[in-house]
Order: sequence, then C-alpha cells, then structure tokens
Amino acid sequence: MQLGILKETFPETRVALLPESLKSLRAQGVDVLVEAGAGIHAGASDQAYIDAGASIAASRASILADAGLLPVVNAPNASDQAALKPGAVVVGFLRPLDAPTALSTAVERNVTLFSMELVPRITRAQSMDALSSMATVAGYKAVVTAADRLPRMFPMLMTAAGTVPPARVFVIGAGVAGLQAIATARRLGAVVEAYDVRAAAGEQVRSLGAKFLDVDLGGINTEGGGGYAAELTEEALDRGRDLIVKTAAHSDVIITTAQVPGRPAPRLIRREAVEAMRPGSVLVDLAAPAGGNCELTQPGLEQNIGGVILLAPMNLPSEVPVDASHLYARNVVNFLGLILKNGNLSIDLADEVLAGACVAHEGKPVNPRVARLLETTTATP
Ligand code: NAD
Repeated sequence: MQLGILKETFPETRVALLPESLKSLRAQGVDVLVEAGAGIHAGASDQAYIDAGASIAASRASILADAGLLPVVNAPNASDQAALKPGAVVVGFLRPLDAPTALSTAVERNVTLFSMELVPRITRAQSMDALSSMATVAGYKAVVTAADRLPRMFPMLMTAAGTVPPARVFVIGAGVAGLQAIATARRLGAVVEAYDVRAAAGEQVRSLGAKFLDVDLGGINTEGGGGYAAELTEEALDRGRDLIVKTAAHSDVIITTAQVPGRPAPRLIRREAVEAMRPGSVLVDLAAPAGGNCELTQPGLEQNIGGVILLAPMNLPSEVPVDASHLYARNVVNFLGLILKNGNLSIDLADEVLAGACVAHEGKPVNPRVARLLETTTATP
C-alpha cells in the first residue's frame, strides 16, 4: 500500500506527516511517497523523509494517481480530487460542514473521506483531537501576535525610572484556544480577565491565575453537550455584550474565541466596545473563520479602527508550522492506527470514531450531519 504526503498549497505551511511519523507506518510495510518540498516550512527536508524510509515522488500527479492513503492538512482542490486513485482514502481538515460540495468530485470517485474536524471528542479519541491541538497553537500565537503589535509591554516592571504597569488582557471564550491564550498572557506577566457562558470554564480560568467574569444569564442552560456551549437567545447574548463593552474600556488586548459548533460565531463585540478601547489596543478575533465575534471583523483582514488594531486571522496554526505540524501529525498517525491493519486498509464503520469522522465511503455520505447538508445543497429547488 502506498501512502502519499503532498506539499500543501501556499499559504498553508503545515504538513500532514513528518519524517518522525513514518516509523510505525514503515514497520507495517507501508510505502511512503513524498512530494518534493512537502515539509520545508515544518523543518523537514526531503532528505529527512528519505532517511525515514520514504521516497520523493517524481511528481504530485504520480502521488495522486498511486497513493491509496493520503493524509492531508487541507482538502485537495477539485482538480487534485479528479486525479485521485478511485477507492483511495483521504484524511484531513476537509471542512465538510462549511463546504460539503467542495468534496463532491472525490465522493463521485468513490474516495473515502475522513475529516479530522469530525473526530468525536470522546476519551478514546483524545489523541486524535486535531481541533484541540490547533486551537492550542492558535491561542498561543494570538497572544504573542498581540504582544508584538501592542505599543506597551505585558509584564509589570519596577525600575529605577519608575513602575511600568502590566498590560490587561481580556479573553472571551475560555475553551481550548481561550485557556491557552490565558496561560500564555499570564506567562508574559499580563493581568488577565476572561468570560465564557459555560460556568464550568470558571474553575479552569481561575486555576490559571486569571479573573473569571460572571454574567447573570437568569439560570438558562448554556451547555450544548460534549463540553460545548449552546446557542444563546439575543437577550442572553446582550448581557454578555454589555459586560464586554465595560471590560473593553480598560483592556489593552482582547482575544476572542467564542464559538458554537455548526453555527456562525456569536456576534458578541459591538462597535461600541471597540471604540471604548484606548488607541494602540489590539483585538484578535480568533473566531474569524466562523464569521467573527466582533461585528466589525472582516475575516482575513487587518483593520485600524480609531487607532485600535483589529486582527482577524484565518489560519494562525499555519504561522507556527513546526509545532503545529508535529501535533497534527501525531493526531493523524493515531487516527491512521484505526484504519490500518498490518499495512493494509481495514475500515470498520461500526467503530464510532470512524463513523463519526467519515464524510463519505463508497460514493455515499456517512456522517449524518454531512449527509443532511449534502441533501439540502444538492436538492433541486
Ligand atoms: P469552541 O471552539 O466551540 O468554543 C470556544 C469557547 O467559546 C467555548 O468555551 C464556549 O463555551 C465559548 N462560547 C460560546 N458561545 C459563547 C458566548 N456567547 N459567550 C461567551 N463564550 C461563548 O469550544 P472548544 O474550545 O473546542 O471546546 C470547548 C470545551 O469542550 C472545552 O473547554 C472542553 O471542556 C471540551 N472539550 C472536550 C474534549 C474531549 O475530548 N472530551 C476535547 C476538547 C474540548
């Protein structure tokens, strides 16, 4: 069986598997074909892949034509999908809930698609939780980027020339990315406040040395299951928005990460909150790929709003390609362990992790959420 590693399309800098990932695959007799330069941004040279037992392919086309298994970071585009070997298996961030029809060429070619975003967040699959890995990287990088752009320092300094007060950081959404942002800002010496609708987040925020801001939401249910938040009513969202305006006025940095799975990101930050920030302050909207938490956010663009820098990065993990690729590759190798037996593909869709992550198999949608989306998007009006 041949496994292919593609060079991802720029501006993606991560790679799906690194040379260190190949040991267990080579031990099972899997042949690994690598596109030249695939790991270059992630610190892995072609020679390192060769030393790990892989071969450098003559061309990208030969990998697409020959590989039975293709771990990727992002979904192959339509022309790459059209060149895939029928019956091949693709594993990666395939965005099946955002752009299901972008995968139709692969589905028509009977390619089996597994989406890392859909891996169920159950204990057994924790080592495959690539969303958490990437959120961790994004939370860290958001703070480091904000610190770099802020015209002030993060730590409090007491010097002979006087005292420099610490920067004040406000983190909205204390999930995986938010908690990492809090930890990073604390390590840099900032004073940190955080807000989340899930009461359970309070304890985690406090354990990192930050202050948890409570909002009285009138006892409504804010938990949507699986540790995620529920979608709130406009009235409940408004209470959060009011708190955010008040807190923004004394914050130097806001990192916002609030999301509800399968829904557009909640619009929590009004123009009024951005205008309440001092000139020179920085707001990083990590929810930009889902539309953004700030009503002024333009996904992918940087704006200056009355002196406040508003950043809306679409792919921060890609700005930390070495560690992001190491974490992602480990998640992928652990996932491959479920579909490889003695070097051959063996797909058992009775396994809840595989069934949950499977977008399509043998030309048909498998994950029920994706199947419903495909029905709606392909139904004739
Ligand atoms: P996410 O990216 O969907 O959301 C980020 C945060 O935004 C969440 O903490 C959510 O509560 C918050 N949020 C949503 N709407 C909000 C609003 N209106 N106002 C303020 N905050 C709002 O979530 P995530 O970071 O991927 O994960 C959230 C939680 O899921 C984790 O903290 C953890 O408890 C759980 N989790 C469990 C596993 C597992 O394997 N069991 C894995 C990862 C995460």
